[in-house]
Amino acid sequence: MQVVCLDLEGVLVPEIWIKFAEKTGIDALKATTRDIPDYDELMQQRLRLLDENNLDLAAIQAVIAELSPMPGAREFLDSLREKFQVIILSDTFYEFARPLMAQLAWPTLFCHKLEVSGDGRVTDYLLRQKDPKRQSVKALKQLKYTVFAAGDSYNDTTMLEEADAGFLFRAPQNVIDEFPQYKVTTEYTELAGFFDKAALNAT
Ligand SMILES: [Mg+2]
Repeated sequence: MQVVCLDLEGVLVPEIWIKFAEKTGIDALKATTRDIPDYDELMQQRLRLLDENNLDLAAIQAVIAELSPMPGAREFLDSLREKFQVIILSDTFYEFARPLMAQLAWPTLFCHKLEVSGDGRVTDYLLRQKDPKRQSVKALKQLKYTVFAAGDSYNDTTMLEEADAGFLFRAPQNVIDEFPQYKVTTEYTELAGFFDKAALNAT
């Protein structure tokens, strides 16, 4: 029995914070962990900027609803779900991902959660656990599933390492160079082929 774990941003949908910053014109929201390595500091800055710009959760979701999955993502995911159980493992938040999940026909998503006040302001965030992608794959393996995974960035590499087979999809060159053990592709059809082949090899 086989499960495919997919990263979300950069694989099925664009980077949500970057697109959100473009749509709202709030340039400071483009900062990522590359600019502010401390994740908590980065998130506190983002929450402060949302608040300063009077963006409550409803306003944020309205902007995100204008975003679309990457071309071909929905079809790729649908055909993958015919063959495998598919779980999306992401470091985003349920509240942000929601409008995009609707466009992907609500696949299973494991991610984090925001804290929202009674009047709809985003006040804090709750990480589900440390190293969630690796821990999720580990848990699935304990349930006797064979796990295949694909992602595009550093935060996916522990998931790829833990999986029975892992692949990089549209990864930046520095990630490709640093992790030469993973096959790389930029095309959904080729990625689907990688999963099919891994499934054959696993049986
Ligand atoms: Mg990603």
